[in-house]
Amino acid sequence: MTRWKMAFGLVTVAALAVGCGKSEPLKGVVPEEALKRLAEGNQRYVAAKASHPDQTPERRTQVAGGQSPFAIVLGCADSRVPPEVLFDQGLGDLFTVRVAGNVLDDAGLGSLEYAADHLGVHLLVVLGHERCGAVDAAVKGGEAEGRVKYLVKALKPAVSAAKGLPGDVLDNAVRANVALVVKQLKTSKPVLAELVEDGKLAVVGARYDLDTGIVEILKP
Ligand SMILES: [Zn+2]
Repeated sequence: MTRWKMAFGLVTVAALAVGCGKSEPLKGVVPEEALKRLAEGNQRYVAAKASHPDQTPERRTQVAGGQSPFAIVLGCADSRVPPEVLFDQGLGDLFTVRVAGNVLDDAGLGSLEYAADHLGVHLLVVLGHERCGAVDAAVKGGEAEGRVKYLVKALKPAVSAAKGLPGDVLDNAVRANVALVVKQLKTSKPVLAELVEDGKLAVVGARYDLDTGIVEILKP
């Protein structure tokens, strides 16, 4: 059994917990189904069996008039971590926001709110990755040039949270950063927090392994 599958069970339960109770049935793809599609796509990619779905001229025509992606991904701008490739998806499937270190700022948050609230997407994945250069810069400290200092500043709380933990300091900071951003998103008022509260949005954290290609869902 892959780590994806093992982790998948845990997250499905968490997503269900978010979605239970409250109001009417969800209109779009439910979080459990969205996670399943991502997991299956990642498994194809890892096994070198990517099917490159939704990348045909027909699909382009189909989505030209409007979009209804099934998942939102907030990921790093790193060239080695393109969500459509590592989840084996295509046009119109994923609404992606990418900033170095998957840092959340107001413009990114506005984009995520648009996808969750306006487009009605019910799953948001915060995707960190192994050996993230932005997180590494924050771990190493020192003086960052130009606007990179804003990234480093935003990543400092993750570095602090990871301090003193056993294991690799950079990887611990990557994981802590994902957890902090997930928390920020879940409590972001008024839009995202309300969607989470109403069971219309599940927010989960994940880590991409540069060596194996595996996306591991992190425990809430
Ligand atoms: Zn990165």
